[in-house]
Amino acid sequence: MKTNNQLRLDPLTGRWIAVAEGRSYRPSAFAPDSDLPFHHNDLPCPFCPGSESSSPPALETYGPSGSWTVRVVPNLYPAFDGDEPMVTTTKGPVFTQAPASGIHEVLILSQDHASGWADLDDRQLAVVMSAIRDRMDAHAHSKVIRYSQVIVNHGRSAGASMEHPHGQLLGISFVPRELSDEQAGFARFVGGCVLCATIELERTAGSRMICDNDEVIVIAPYWSAVPFEMLVIPTSHSAHLHLSSPSTLSEVGSVINRALRMLREATGHSAYNLVFHSSPYRAFGNFHWHVHILPKLTTKAGFELGTGVAINIVSPEDAAQTLTGSPDLLDNEAI
Ligand SMILES: [Zn+2]
Ligand SMILES: [Zn+2]
Ligand SMILES: [Zn+2]
Repeated sequence: MKTNNQLRLDPLTGRWIAVAEGRSYRPSAFAPDSDLPFHHNDLPCPFCPGSESSSPPALETYGPSGSWTVRVVPNLYPAFDGDEPMVTTTKGPVFTQAPASGIHEVLILSQDHASGWADLDDRQLAVVMSAIRDRMDAHAHSKVIRYSQVIVNHGRSAGASMEHPHGQLLGISFVPRELSDEQAGFARFVGGCVLCATIELERTAGSRMICDNDEVIVIAPYWSAVPFEMLVIPTSHSAHLHLSSPSTLSEVGSVINRALRMLREATGHSAYNLVFHSSPYRAFGNFHWHVHILPKLTTKAGFELGTGVAINIVSPEDAAQTLTGSPDLLDNEAI
């Protein structure tokens, strides 16, 4: 399907906006403001086994032949597609646009309609992580893609429009602001890598550590912006997810599962966004790939939207203590 997607530049902030009109036609386009159940119609779930023909042909399939455990299919309502180069066109002093080129893929986590990341076993999650690696590797070889955003939206309030647990991979033709801000953070940090330093200092502090299995740590970051925010960091320094070892990748899959189960147990809520940040493909600066776990417990309100300054009502120290169920051994004021 050819779309008329477009990037438009916000001249006030310098941020690109993707206008993807076709996406408003997808089922349940507008997420409700609470975790209402998914709307069920009589159509079978397109991601369940037996409905494979309702999606375009798979980009990758994992599992024994004749069956599958993980599938990656093109998104029927892509926000980004095509391979036009990132050439900006100015249609007047404040109207700047560019083609919304790239690729938009759906990663079906398993055959099971009811099992999200928190319910899958380590073996399945290792396959999921391999699928992410393989697709990012394919994107890295594309002429037009400069960065891939991998996400999992779980729960209606976190933006999921299909109930069957899935992730999305969006390969885009520019480096988005969130990433260039993080790249600037790595460049600003004096004395090595900011996340390698974080690993070392959080291991010493202990009060925000949620999980540490040598290869990967999960912390409630000191700078958490939302309640129960978590940051997953592989302990060996690597800029690119798709160049990481299979063992690191499968450990990341497993610790995310553990962290999500802790979240569900501690808060009773399970809506969240997983945001994978890996270096843009042809960037030379320092970067250390990581995954943000952003529980969807609150909504951004006017002050946060107006200033970009988050007000977090749960300190990361309290969050870590609640998540791990550990006694308050350390004073919250302690670094
Ligand atoms: Zn399904
Ligand atoms: Zn590092
Ligand atoms: Zn990040």
